[in-house]
Amino acid sequence: MAQAAQLVPGVTTVTPHARYFAIHGMVMAEAQARGLDKDATTDLLRRTEVAAAAVSFVHHGGHDSPTGRAHGTDSLAQRLRGGTLVMEEASAVGGYARNSWGFSGAYLGSEVTLGVLDQTRGPGETYDDVAVRGGIGRLLDLAREDELTLSDLAQDTGLCICAGPGRPDGRWLARLLCGKDERIAEDEATLSRRETIRLLARIVDTHDIRNLTEQVTDILAFGVFLSTDTVAAASPVAHRWRGVTLRNHAVSAWRRLWAWLVDQVVDVTHIDDVVAALLAELPAGTVGAWLSELPSTTGPDGAPAPAEVSLYDGYGAPAADLRVLCANAARVSELTGEIRKVFAGSPDHELTPAWLAANLDAQRSHSLHAFADRLVRQLLARSERVALMKTRRKADGTLWFPGRVRSLDGGWLYKTGAEGRGRVSLRLAQLGNVLVGSGVFADVGGRITVTALGRDLLV
Ligand SMILES: [Zn+2]
Repeated sequence: MAQAAQLVPGVTTVTPHARYFAIHGMVMAEAQARGLDKDATTDLLRRTEVAAAAVSFVHHGGHDSPTGRAHGTDSLAQRLRGGTLVMEEASAVGGYARNSWGFSGAYLGSEVTLGVLDQTRGPGETYDDVAVRGGIGRLLDLAREDELTLSDLAQDTGLCICAGPGRPDGRWLARLLCGKDERIAEDEATLSRRETIRLLARIVDTHDIRNLTEQVTDILAFGVFLSTDTVAAASPVAHRWRGVTLRNHAVSAWRRLWAWLVDQVVDVTHIDDVVAALLAELPAGTVGAWLSELPSTTGPDGAPAPAEVSLYDGYGAPAADLRVLCANAARVSELTGEIRKVFAGSPDHELTPAWLAANLDAQRSHSLHAFADRLVRQLLARSERVALMKTRRKADGTLWFPGRVRSLDGGWLYKTGAEGRGRVSLRLAQLGNVLVGSGVFADVGGRITVTALGRDLLV
């Protein structure tokens, strides 16, 4: 996740919509120009976000826009269907949003990274007031209304969250994202973002891409495209992406396996019973025999083969998850250079591919059951350690075990909740959505394409 953050700075899993970058910049510029205090600023911010939700609702007749649903729509659903929004009520804290800063908190880090806002939450160096007001300035007028009647908003659908492409604010954000705005610093973050977008654009140009998550991550992780395509082969971020996407298969498999183990803890359960539950899913025989039955992780062309994809069997298949992890670890000795460096991690760090590969190697002649037995106890001990650490300091983003299992004396366990089991996001879906929302990419009948503007900015 830390690697993904470096490759896609300025977009996170909670910043799906391009237009909010413009909305937040504009509100803070307006607040500064009018000398508003904090309460008046947050009030204006929430009213503006409510106005954006209202016009987006109208634009799509209550359905989602092609780039998703405006923030706060769910909480406003009843009022929106009623056809009228009393602004004071809808924008109150606890109305469309629970936070006094509305949804801007989720975007703040990204907006500071892109320079849209500065550290004090004021308009930043890259914010372009003329362009943004040219696109969405009218949202401020709507924000000042006491009441919004939805039937009156039909002429304002150009303010919808989907309507940024081709408008001044969309073009401004597109230039920022692609690092082609003269106000944005030519630093590492800008270069990584631009090169990531260029690589995605090349993939979109050469494949029939319908979604930017699985389809794209498979191309980044497996096969010859990264070495045979001239543009991809020259990309300075392609190898990092290969390492990250291959590693992501391990991270996601650990998450599923761990969630399954936690699910075996019911009321108070003994650790031996959790171990037994996993062993019941695994064949007898040695670790070496188990490994020899795994599919090849390198294709005849020498490129990574999608072993993890073929072994994946959804949630509740711990043996499949362990196979995914073991196949994945085999790559430690197959990959080289930067791909390996990003992928493998250190053998001294628990749960990295390098650590698992070293353990499998050392225990090749042992029984698989003994190996799995030890692994379950290690995972539980690790979870306990992490939970203890978390009680003393704030999570720094690198700990992915929230520690839902606690141990009592004598090996008895109980749990405080279920664990997350979904794939760990590499932010590509959100990046794609922001690129579509700003007009760098477009969704043409379900297929993602690069727009003329995008082509222009990515030369
Ligand atoms: Zn729309």
